[in-house]
Amino acid sequence: MPLDDPGGGDGSSGPEDLPVLQTEARGHQAVQRALPLVWTSSEHGQSGPAHAGVDAASSSACWSDASRACRNTAETLACAGPRRHAPRDAESGRLDLPVVSVLDVDSLCVSYGPVQAVRGVSFSVAEGEIVGLLGANGAGKTSTLEVCEGYRPASSGTVRVLGLEPTDQALRQEVGVVLQDIGVTPFLSVREVLTRNAAYYDQPRPVAEVIDLVGLGEKADVRVQTLSGGQQRRLDLALGILGSPRLLFLDEPTTGFDPGARRGAWQLVRDLRDQGTTIVLTTHYLEEAEALADRVVVIAAGEVVAEGAPAELGGRSDGPTVVRFRVDPGAVLPALPTSDQIVREGDHVRVACADVVETLWRLTGWAREEGGVLDGLSVQRATLEDVYLQLTGAPR
Ligand code: ATP
Repeated sequence: MPLDDPGGGDGSSGPEDLPVLQTEARGHQAVQRALPLVWTSSEHGQSGPAHAGVDAASSSACWSDASRACRNTAETLACAGPRRHAPRDAESGRLDLPVVSVLDVDSLCVSYGPVQAVRGVSFSVAEGEIVGLLGANGAGKTSTLEVCEGYRPASSGTVRVLGLEPTDQALRQEVGVVLQDIGVTPFLSVREVLTRNAAYYDQPRPVAEVIDLVGLGEKADVRVQTLSGGQQRRLDLALGILGSPRLLFLDEPTTGFDPGARRGAWQLVRDLRDQGTTIVLTTHYLEEAEALADRVVVIAAGEVVAEGAPAELGGRSDGPTVVRFRVDPGAVLPALPTSDQIVREGDHVRVACADVVETLWRLTGWAREEGGVLDGLSVQRATLEDVYLQLTGAPR
């Protein structure tokens, strides 16, 4: 059945027969899913990879794909088989499994040939938390997430999602994923794509509600191919939350969003958390991490270099206060306390000080008495960005 066919090809197939996959190529990467994971093939005793209906025999080819894990539509469709079901709570319909952490990553290593992308990463995520993975380009965040999502095998170490192997079919209804790059059928409308994918879930959110949540009401009936980049990203987000997942992975969810849309997405993420969804996200926007994350895990060169609440990361809450201002490039500053660390770049001055009152007293005295100019004077604790740049060794 072509993926573009929302009606099940010849009309004989119902949702249960469909390979749960919404993959279309975007650029050179044939990227899988807006639907989370597809679980199939247990009929023959195989515990197939949790991603998109690929059986054990096919998975090795998929795993070894140099592009992002298994995202080949034709191959995935060919591998699809029947689903299996794990024990569920009769009332809530949720997995009835004893779970300590929603996500446990222990000594995870991921290698691509000679490249050691992830080198012993460990962290846990408790139910109801929003945890942000931070790190520079190539730090290993996506590789880590891909193992957690069941797309990629670990080279070593263990990952448990709701106490299960990430590839366990039982996670199908529990986990939502918004990848960095999701291909969505361009010729269907937003509503058609969501309606089609809603059929893959036991308890989907109402499509109209999801459209509303991501702010695509005005675009509900236009073809996906006419959406702007930011609007397509909102659709990606819509697909990720369609199944009311218990655990939601968001890989750079607001890239391309305008500032208003970004704040709308943040509110949506908070609302999801308040409704009980556990969220693991990656982002390069530190403001986003600060606004959303209960905890951040900073990864550098494949290793965790810091972990904690954004406000406390790297001793931030106990660290120096930073005074910033602009002066004329040739201006001679007053003498400041010797413990102050002064960085001057062009007309920008940054002073990290232990005694902010003393530093401000000297600076403002200089401004009043000698006519010094302190343009844009600001006083703040080290920002998350300051701490992050320090932790990751990036230039400041
Ligand atoms: P970004 O913020 O740019 O998305 P990231 O932290 O998500 O980066 P990864 O995508 O996990 O980083 O990449 C980690 C390292 O692994 C990089 O050096 C990258 O070049 C390498 N890498 C990732 N995927 C592959 C692959 N399929 N084959 C070979 N190397 C890869």
